[in-house]
This record gives sequence, structure tokens and C-alpha cells, in this order.
Amino acid sequence: MLKTNFENVEQRICAACERSGRSRDSVTLIAVSKTKPVEMIQEIYDLGQREFGENRPQELRDKYGQLPSDIRWHMIGHLQKNKIKYVAGRAVMIHSIDSRELAEAVSREAQKQGITIPVLLEVNVAGEDTKYGVAPGEASGLAKHAASLPGLQVEGLMTIAPFVDDPELNRPVFRKLKQLSVDIAKENIDNVSMHVLSMGMTNDYETAIEEGATMVRVGTGIFGEREYGSPS
Ligand SMILES: *Cc1c(COP(=O)(O)O)cnc(C)c1O
Repeated sequence: MLKTNFENVEQRICAACERSGRSRDSVTLIAVSKTKPVEMIQEIYDLGQREFGENRPQELRDKYGQLPSDIRWHMIGHLQKNKIKYVAGRAVMIHSIDSRELAEAVSREAQKQGITIPVLLEVNVAGEDTKYGVAPGEASGLAKHAASLPGLQVEGLMTIAPFVDDPELNRPVFRKLKQLSVDIAKENIDNVSMHVLSMGMTNDYETAIEEGATMVRVGTGIFGEREYGSPS
């Protein structure tokens, strides 16, 4: 079951890359394993997958300790300052920097550990009240601020698009995030790179790839529905 799902996602990614004249290497698949047991993660690992995403700091920490050390863990969920310690040094990237205060706190933890943490800035492109992330107009300012802090490496932008049935409805959202990253890149801010665009989930990752995603975060499409009542 998992193998079929995984192969199906892989095929769709390849097809979307082909449609948009991109190479398969230009897109990283992050298998979002939140709420799923280590046995299932190991099964996907055994198929060759190495990038996994979690949205809860303690869950990431626990799974980190129980699974092969060459897994590249991505912290994709909202991060509270008091929980940074669980992911710093374990996650290869934090996708969810959504305020100056959080950037400062991550910087402090990075300095404490003597490491540099690659980060993405989360942008609330559609302006949904329920979503974290800065408004598009604030992203450049946040990039400048984060880049001025020691121990942070700003690598790009991330967005969580609205939940919609028809992925076409999110195409403008993806296009806007891409344009924003191009605009910020043009500012040539010291220490800011805009080579990562983390966008697209199970319902719309193919559209996101067509619009320039370099990382797609797919959970349900690989692992199946999360249990009712489990944290999203
Ligand atoms: C859960 C989650 C995903 C994956 O969602 P699916 O619809 O199951 O693919 C992607 N990104 C973030 C930030 C998430 O929290």
C-alpha cells in the first residue's frame, strides 16, 4: 500500500517536472510523516526516501532518535520559542520562520549550539486568518532581519496554500510566492538566498511544481489519511 502510494507520488512529480520542462532533481519530495509511526517511516525509507517532514517539535525529536541517522528532517509546522531546542541540531531546515522574534530565538539557540540553521520564511500569501506566516509585503523586511542574525541561513520562502478541492485555485498563490522570491532575490540582501520554494501538499503539489516549487510536502498522498482527531 505505502509502496504504491509512494511510487504514484513519485510518478506524478516526474510528470509535473516534464510538463514544466524541469529536471526531476530540481524538486525535493518531503514525505510528511506527522502522526505516523516509525515503522511506516522506515518502510518509506527502505524505498529510498531520505527527506521527511514533521510539524511537532517533540515528535521530530523522538523520531530522530529512533530512525536512521541519514534521514533529513524538516521542521514544517508552527514553532513556539520554547520548543526550538527540540529541533535545532536535528532538523536540516526550519520552514516556518514567521516573525522577527522567532528568528531571533532560533539564532540564539543556533549560537548556543555553535551551528548554522538553514531557514525558510513562511508567507501567508492568501491572507487567511487561520494561517501563520507574514504578509507578502513583510517578507523582505523579515529576510533582512533574519539574515542579520548569527547562526541563521535564509534559503527561501514557504507557504501553506488554502485547502481547496481544485488545485487550479491555488495556482495564483504559488505564482505569487514565486514572484515574491524573485523580487527579494533582486534586492541582493547579504546572506539571503532565495533558491528554495517550499510549496504544494497532497492536493496541489503538481500545480506547485508547475509554478516553480523546489520542495513539495506530501503527507496523506504517501502515508494515507491521518487518524481522525489526531493533530493536523
Ligand atoms: C501536514 C502538512 C503537510 C502535508 O499535508 P498533506 O495534505 O497530508 O499532504 C504539508 N505541510 C505542512 C506545513 C503540514 O503541516
